Amino acid sequence: GKTFMQKTTRSFGSRAVPKQTQLFIDGQWCNSVKGGTFETIDPFTEEPITQVQRASREDVDKAVLAARIAFDHGPWRRMSATDRGNLLYRLGELVEKNAEELAYLEALDNGKPVSVAKAADLPLTWNTYKYYGGWANKITGDTIPAPGNFHAYTRREPVGVAAQIIPWNFPLLMQAWKLGPALAAGCTVVMKTAEQTPLSALKIAELIKEAGFPDGVVNILSGFGEDAGAYLSTHSDVDKVAFTGSTAVGLQIMRNSSLGGLKRVTLELGGKSANIICEDADVDMAVQQSHLGLFFNQGQCCIAGSRLFVHDKIYDEFAEKSAKFASEAKLGDSQDAATTQGPQVSKEQQDTVWGYIEKGKKEGATLLAGGEKYDGKGYFVKPTVFADVQDDMTIAKEEIFGPVMQIMKFSDYDDVIDRANRSEYGLGAGVVTKDIGRAFHLTNGLRAGTVYVNCYDVFDPTLPFGGYKNSGIGRENGPQGLDNYLETKTVIMSRPDGSL
Ligand code: NAD
Repeated sequence: GKTFMQKTTRSFGSRAVPKQTQLFIDGQWCNSVKGGTFETIDPFTEEPITQVQRASREDVDKAVLAARIAFDHGPWRRMSATDRGNLLYRLGELVEKNAEELAYLEALDNGKPVSVAKAADLPLTWNTYKYYGGWANKITGDTIPAPGNFHAYTRREPVGVAAQIIPWNFPLLMQAWKLGPALAAGCTVVMKTAEQTPLSALKIAELIKEAGFPDGVVNILSGFGEDAGAYLSTHSDVDKVAFTGSTAVGLQIMRNSSLGGLKRVTLELGGKSANIICEDADVDMAVQQSHLGLFFNQGQCCIAGSRLFVHDKIYDEFAEKSAKFASEAKLGDSQDAATTQGPQVSKEQQDTVWGYIEKGKKEGATLLAGGEKYDGKGYFVKPTVFADVQDDMTIAKEEIFGPVMQIMKFSDYDDVIDRANRSEYGLGAGVVTKDIGRAFHLTNGLRAGTVYVNCYDVFDPTLPFGGYKNSGIGRENGPQGLDNYLETKTVIMSRPDGSL
């Protein structure tokens, strides 16, 4: 039994109901001012898990005020950087301690296999908090030898109140990538989670309280983009907006954020990453690499290697093995340890992905695996492989965000760099080769924020992550992640008599 949550007799049987469903503002759990709620759905059973409080403008105002006061007058900024780092580290430890419950919630709300949540999402999440906890007291400025009798130095100071808006594909990890650097830098935060997956973030709010963060430093709002999200991104008491989601919404946020005064903005947006399989590649290894790169997380990865360029010398063998590999996926209940592919996060996503599959067929791509509609319960999409995809087909250009692979043919290495770069996006890219010269040639030529060679989907808090072009502005993770939340203050000092 799941002793950590209330048992339920509702129709989804043994699935326990999460405890936290309220808004977390100023260290307190509260209902929304206007009394709004929404249902969050289990994508496997297609049934509501629970009702969650829905933040509206009034709640955003409350949360921003709490974060503003916590920043301007609270104990947070007077606290030593070491103490701040220790709190973050403690949060990482609490995540580790509560990993079982958090993995359950993540799988329940998002649909991803619980085994994957345990093996990937959870360790990455707690390591992110610990990593940034370690950074808190290592954020330093410079002493600068400016000419004249001056002592000049820089201080790195927190930007202030950060508004953070996150998506549903990796709820816990996206939350950690945002909270970790913001809190290490000394900012306070109002976070709006994705309406599809509010639950695990609320458990983190509970752990934030348990860790002992001062009230108002972190405020977590469940709610929708069009009201709570849009309003938060315009709020004049917000100093910085950090967003992860689609490019369309990223562009709106860029515009909206300028309404209430100038805010710092960082964006992590969509992708259509090229993955280049060279003629010397071990085909079996390349099939595994490209399947991880595309099908991981039900294809719901911003960095998914969804434009697969395969050298014509190995194209046929690759396509055949890839189709076979795809058909071996085990679709099922996220809570079942044997499941390798869960449902898509929502009906809406299932429909969108299905629309792309139909378009792929219509535009003349060759269907090698999947491609039939899933009509059982749960928002599943059968793993689908298209070959003979042409660069100008819709499925080769637009982000599908689902388990649909596009295989394209190439024969010339300079040409494939051009084709790979002919995209509005530039988040990631992959290369499979044993030839080090080819690896350098391709990695240097590709316009993308991350390039994987003979691997894919390697994530770590130490590794900067972000996009070129329409894939974003700024980098998360690594020391670069801190820059998003810091201002530089230059201090120039002299004695009143001008001597030094
Ligand atoms: P989305 O842009 O619709 O939603 C993301 C978040 O923004 C949600 O919290 C949503 O409520 C909020 N939102 C929606 N409209 C808003 C508005 N007008 N103002 C403020 N907030 C608003 O994206 P999605 O469908 O939830 O997520 C999938 C997308 O996210 C994909 O395009 C994917 O590539 C991208 N993504 C990118 C990264 C990255 O690091 N680059 C990571 C994960 C997902």
